[in-house]
Amino acid sequence: MSTLSHDYDHLCSAVSRLGSEAAFEVLGRARELQALGRDIVHMEVGEPDFDTPAHIKEAGKAAIDANFTHYAPNAGIMEFREVIADYATRFRGLATAYTPDMVVVAPGAKQIIWNLLAALLDPGDEMVYADPAYPTYAAAAGYLGATAVPVRLLESKNWGLDLDEFEAKLSDRTNVVVLNSPHNPTGGVLSHDDLARIAELALRHRFVILSDEIYSRNVYGPKFESITQFEELRDRIIVVDGFSKAYAMTGWRLGYCIAPPKIARAATLLANNTYACTATFAQKAGIAALTGDDAPVVAMNETFRERRDRFVAQLNTIPGVSCPIPDGAFYAFPNITQITTDDVALAKFLLEEGGVALLGGSCFGEAGRGYLRLSYANSLHELDRCAERMRAALPRFAG
Ligand code: PLP
Repeated sequence: MSTLSHDYDHLCSAVSRLGSEAAFEVLGRARELQALGRDIVHMEVGEPDFDTPAHIKEAGKAAIDANFTHYAPNAGIMEFREVIADYATRFRGLATAYTPDMVVVAPGAKQIIWNLLAALLDPGDEMVYADPAYPTYAAAAGYLGATAVPVRLLESKNWGLDLDEFEAKLSDRTNVVVLNSPHNPTGGVLSHDDLARIAELALRHRFVILSDEIYSRNVYGPKFESITQFEELRDRIIVVDGFSKAYAMTGWRLGYCIAPPKIARAATLLANNTYACTATFAQKAGIAALTGDDAPVVAMNETFRERRDRFVAQLNTIPGVSCPIPDGAFYAFPNITQITTDDVALAKFLLEEGGVALLGGSCFGEAGRGYLRLSYANSLHELDRCAERMRAALPRFAG
């Protein structure tokens, strides 16, 4: 009779290299505590607390009623791919238009990131990425037997890249560079100068840039800038974007990439072999999102800005906590090194003893050590309760 441990012996070595996204684990523990009657303030998961705008939901419902409930083409339905190509060209102000053959739709940006890296990384290849980072990039690279090479983001540069370190870490094995701006978990936005220097380095090296722009509509200070503005690199830039963050559509599972046709064909082949296609009615809802009234997106963003301003100001009044004002996404990433460098222990303490669910910065990589990540996609009332609870609990942390 097989035992659990015996079963584990049969799992492949690649799986043993996988971590898991801490946000989902902390959410699980927070829900357990709630089931025991504890009152928890949720700051852990990166999802808008708003509902999907009504006209998008209506389009999804109408599509189900019209029986758009069958398999769809692997890369996505043509109408949606045309709409995405058109929107992405206009939104990024590109001189040369994207074409639908460059677009591959997926059930979430996470899935397309995974499939793209599977198409690009051989064992032993190197993927350079900013640390701390959304965990999926390094997870996929590790699973594929490639080496994930972290480059520090600097709090002192408003979470810009250490570009000298970036240049030093490029090698002839660097096949992929991952950019993510606006950035999870720091809320940082790469400046024009940073992007220009990366573009210049790209011209001298042979790597492909995977630019994860899923927070492109969540920018509060500077204008959103994309590496795609360096159009001379067009045949080596892949844009990843999606609907989860801008349109409050996390549960619809809808994302896409825009890639040079050869890479798009490889991503389509991987789609064929993995998820097959993305729910057709979700794609119809995506068309409504990109072609319909944009006012709800703008309104959500204004609300995020208001929350950011109030919440970050409050964090900065808590002894031992300091937080630069994040320019994008919806995360605050305060420095807590005056209290401890063991951010995971502090996050655990704040959940168990303080009733606030949040994440240790090191869950996103070594460079996140000594920071906390708080998603401020929550009501002002909950944000106020979060700050009060942190202020009350932190002096009791024994480290
Ligand atoms: N990329 C980044 C940087 C993210 O933070 C997330 C979600 O948290 C994703 C991609 C995945 O989004 P999706 O819901 O489309 O899979």
